[in-house]
Amino acid sequence: MKTKLFCLFVLAILVVAFSSFRTLNNDTVKPFVVVLDAGHGGKDPGNRGNGFFEKDIVLDVTLQVGKILEQHKDIKVVYTRTTDVFIDLYRRGPIANEVDADIFVSIHCNSHHTQAYGAETFVMGVDKSGKNMETAKKENEVIFLEDNYEEKYAGFDPNSPESLIGLTLMQEEYLDQSIMLASLIQGNLVNNLKRKDRSVKSGPFWVLHSSYMPSVLVELGFLTNKEEGPYVNSKKGRAEMAREIANGILTYKKNISLATESSQNPTITEEEIVKAIETTEEKIYKDIEFRVQLAASSKKIDTKPQNFKGLKDVDRKKEDGLFKYYYGATSDYNEIQLLKTYAQEKGYTSCYIVAFKKGEKLKLSEVLKSEDK
Ligand SMILES: [Zn+2]
Repeated sequence: MKTKLFCLFVLAILVVAFSSFRTLNNDTVKPFVVVLDAGHGGKDPGNRGNGFFEKDIVLDVTLQVGKILEQHKDIKVVYTRTTDVFIDLYRRGPIANEVDADIFVSIHCNSHHTQAYGAETFVMGVDKSGKNMETAKKENEVIFLEDNYEEKYAGFDPNSPESLIGLTLMQEEYLDQSIMLASLIQGNLVNNLKRKDRSVKSGPFWVLHSSYMPSVLVELGFLTNKEEGPYVNSKKGRAEMAREIANGILTYKKNISLATESSQNPTITEEEIVKAIETTEEKIYKDIEFRVQLAASSKKIDTKPQNFKGLKDVDRKKEDGLFKYYYGATSDYNEIQLLKTYAQEKGYTSCYIVAFKKGEKLKLSEVLKSEDK
């Protein structure tokens, strides 16, 4: 019994030593790629509420968001435009796909014939109420300015955004993550800038429908409103909104950060771990299933070993709008500790043990306390 504990202890020391070594060698980590899309541009001015130019405001805000994000070494920012140029709507999503972006954020300003005001953030989707159709219609309208639009947008009538729903909705798979991102941005705009909350909504926006990653469209505010228009157009307003959008993106990134560090020098082999499990005394917790959570990500990753640093039998579960990746499943707490050690050794330095009872996640500390023996 004592030698087995010693074995665990040695493994733990090895892991600590190697994880600290590894943090110094993180240059190969893939950056978090953010595609920022300033709406409109060139011959398409966007809305002209109060005489302002939507295309200029959104370009300025977009560039400011990018500037904040670019201060983070692990983030790469890609812009669909950085100058006053016209870009076909159908080109914008694919730009994000080409660079394998982690998120796509399109920035716009609203307009209305009433004095409507407030900020709102959209995800792609069916708008059952029909209330968001108007905004989607306006943002899709630019299609009419494009050459051969009938050909490029086959099957889609900008006057009836519902027709977009008939087309393949690639965004469906990312809906939960898109909503999370939208909520973080919207929450920042509303709570930190005391803006009217028009909430997170879904609507059939062409620009959102063709990207293969979580995608949102932010409507900063109504240029047509007497008070909000000048605020959105102001230097102060633009800087404040850019800061809040950037912070929303940073929080999102933190929430989904995937452990990408990989181990170059494995010191414990799979056989050694199997042997350690066999020889270590069991510590069974009845009805409890312990698992090692490797990572959480907005990305749906195939659970084959080569995607998980060689770990076999990784299991994927969708929880709270994220894909969670688990390794191991046992009611033996000692075994799960060994598996965690092995996962750490493989490069998942921040993995941790979680406990389930009949599929429901429990607090590990409570499980260990309540059933300690
Ligand atoms: Zn717009």
